[in-house]
Amino acid sequence: MTDTDTHDPTSLRTPIVAVLGHVDHGKTSLLDKIRGSAVIEGEAGAITQHIGATAVPLDVISTIAGELVDPDDFDLPGLLFIDTPGHHSFTTLRSRGGALADIAILVVDVNDGFQPQTIEALDILKRSETPFIVAANKIDTVPGWNPNEDTPINDTYDAQSDRAASRLDESLYEIIGELSDEGFSADLYWRVQNFQRNVGVVPVSAMTGEGVPDLLAVMMGLSQRYMKAEMEIDVAGPGVGTVLEVKEEKGFGTTIDTVLYDGTIRSDDTVVVGGTNEPIVTDVRALLQPRPLAEIRTESRFEKVEAVKAASGIKIAAPELEHAMAGAPVRVVRDRDIEDVIEEVQAELADIAVDTDEQ
Ligand code: GDP
Repeated sequence: MTDTDTHDPTSLRTPIVAVLGHVDHGKTSLLDKIRGSAVIEGEAGAITQHIGATAVPLDVISTIAGELVDPDDFDLPGLLFIDTPGHHSFTTLRSRGGALADIAILVVDVNDGFQPQTIEALDILKRSETPFIVAANKIDTVPGWNPNEDTPINDTYDAQSDRAASRLDESLYEIIGELSDEGFSADLYWRVQNFQRNVGVVPVSAMTGEGVPDLLAVMMGLSQRYMKAEMEIDVAGPGVGTVLEVKEEKGFGTTIDTVLYDGTIRSDDTVVVGGTNEPIVTDVRALLQPRPLAEIRTESRFEKVEAVKAASGIKIAAPELEHAMAGAPVRVVRDRDIEDVIEEVQAELADIAVDTDEQ
């Protein structure tokens, strides 16, 4: 019996978070800042580096966010950030015909405002009906800004000169106006009552960490409030995921980096994977996770695990993965009829093909 068998059959998984926005507006820096804060604040091992994703558990979020997040108010286990920001990965990564990400952060440089890729990102979010919040980034570059590392926005705002504060206000209202021009009713996040109707804007700095507590608190609150039902999964059930990347790996042959969003995958499972020609039926040879940094010098970068449950990023080594396709579905067969699973994968592949033609 594996660890996952002993859990309550239905359980809440981590929402999957994607980061979008115009080039150089700070997507990578923001992800790095969140990861960095989580490493510093968390107990050893509290933040887990997955394959292609980073899991930030609720207790770490609550330590970073301080009074903004009381862990007793939440039963979602945290947030899983997809490590590759950008539109391409967002649009290729799909699940059951929708976006793989449950929620998104749209990063906008406060000084630069809306740019072509900002508008493109909004179109993608609109089309995929993905809930999102706007991170108005680089507030530390507002002229006269007095930085206060890692503090909630209201604390640092109160410490600013009137001039710096009103300069920030002007930039934020410009962003709110631009969102409105694109058909989104938006406001500063603390004024938003209903996040289903209004987009929340969170002022942040990926450099100084100001506003990052707020950003995590809003993401967590939005997920808990509006997405809890979608996060209910059958953890012990057969795993379902999406291929992030197909990669040659020394000693393992062709592997697929996969984000699992439902159920469990075990190291002795048979899986059906979407391929360039047809679905591939194969037996898992190994499930691989990144080894903790301290151990990497002497051994392989990866360690083998027996099972993983959603939501997580995992590398799957198996024969015949050469024609596996990024963005394609992965489904564990377990005790189901293999033909049914192949059909499901085929149907999902057909969906992807239709969408690609439309773009
Ligand atoms: P991406 O292309 O959206 O991933 O943007 P990057 O994260 O690579 O950031 C682009 C540049 O902006 C880099 O030089 C970053 O150091 C800088 N940058 C990002 N966020 C901030 C911020 O909050 N404040 C300041 N001052 N610079 C930032």
